[in-house]
Amino acid sequence: MPLLRRTHWRVGAALAGAAALAAGVLSVAAPASAQDAPASAAAAPKADATRTPYKAAYNVKLSTDAAGVSWTGTQSITFSNASTDPLTEVYLRLWDNWRGGCNASQPIKITNFTGGTLAPLTVNCTAGKVTLPKALAKDESATVSFSLSIVAPNISDRFGRNGAYNYFGNALPVLAVKDGAGWHLDPYADTGESFYALASDYTVVLDHPTAMKTPATGIRSEVGNGPGRTLTTTVGKQVREFAWADGPYQKSSTTANGGVAVNTYWTSDLSASTGAQMQSVSVSALNDYGSKYGQFPYGEMDVVIDGTLPFGGMEYPGVVFDVPSQNAAAHEIGHQWFYGIVGNDEYRAPWLDESFTTYITDRHFGDEGSGCSINWSTSAEKMTNTMAYWDSRGGPYSAVIYDGGSCTLHDLRRTLGGTAMDKLMADYAKSHWYGVSTTADFKAAAQAATTVNLTSFWTSHRVEG
Ligand SMILES: [Zn+2]
Repeated sequence: MPLLRRTHWRVGAALAGAAALAAGVLSVAAPASAQDAPASAAAAPKADATRTPYKAAYNVKLSTDAAGVSWTGTQSITFSNASTDPLTEVYLRLWDNWRGGCNASQPIKITNFTGGTLAPLTVNCTAGKVTLPKALAKDESATVSFSLSIVAPNISDRFGRNGAYNYFGNALPVLAVKDGAGWHLDPYADTGESFYALASDYTVVLDHPTAMKTPATGIRSEVGNGPGRTLTTTVGKQVREFAWADGPYQKSSTTANGGVAVNTYWTSDLSASTGAQMQSVSVSALNDYGSKYGQFPYGEMDVVIDGTLPFGGMEYPGVVFDVPSQNAAAHEIGHQWFYGIVGNDEYRAPWLDESFTTYITDRHFGDEGSGCSINWSTSAEKMTNTMAYWDSRGGPYSAVIYDGGSCTLHDLRRTLGGTAMDKLMADYAKSHWYGVSTTADFKAAAQAATTVNLTSFWTSHRVEG
């Protein structure tokens, strides 16, 4: 087990307590990856590597009671086939079933499925194959719809309950990605993230008690819905997923550069001055990253501060969950660019989001990584190891991917020079805006930014692929 369970920001955030460690017992199914791709795809003589399905539009309507623990309603997903290969099936990921598994406590349940045939769930009930009624040619579209029930488990986590506050990270079923490696059906990684999604549009309507705040992905509008009830509609364009929280938060709103609405929500154990401090840090980070890596495009940023989360923070598009820490807030907001705007397969290349976010957070706070080093503990460790490696080992994940990974980028900056490195990072973000990057993509971009042959640099920093 990791010493620091899933801190999505670096070291000092070591709040993960023994209770969380004890509760965080891994229940990981046998890895299901490209090898589990349908035989037809694996056997295709020249499968199109284009990531598909794409242009997904999620429409969700959910309602909850006064407790905010359970949400029920409907969801539909319209998508298109990006590939020249016919699309005969898609896979849904019900990520949060990793905790409940396939028994009565399964927290995410789908019923009344239409638009295809949903097979029994696999990968610890986190994946469901949907056979489409007819194969989709390139750019043909289809829609699946279903009834949805979500129950937050009684544990404090990115999906779970924490006193009067409930967190719904990764709770909505999402489309898996198929690319040259086949369907990506990796297991949930509790040490970090397994998530891999293409930019999509979400419209989510939440029907909830008016006394309950609902920080969420997207730009919100709220209308009354009868006595004591509110309908909150949030629209997120080109986001990778959708998350929300609910509870009796305090709230303060302001505006960042470019007219971005910044809403800060904090739990009742925290003071208004803490909320104000975290809001100030968040706005500063948004403005700084926006000036360096491209203006924050999502219009609204919700920052949720909870005094007793068992992890440092967790990032979602347009909404973050944090403990009251400046570093946590700046880190999770940094993920809006690296993971969010510039996507990656978080299971196969976690360094592309965590190392990059730690690096830009360092830079934001004026830390240039002087004298930094990478504390490799074994020769098997690589900067580019997958979550399959880290999730089975835990501790080194933070030391290598956060600290060592940011050091790698600080070292690269020293190799390229500051001006070239800053341009590289800005250009890299721009060229993968709303897209997906890979280690090979970044290495190529870095090499193109300098006359120095970087081969030995990548070798010494164990950046492979
Ligand atoms: Zn992170």
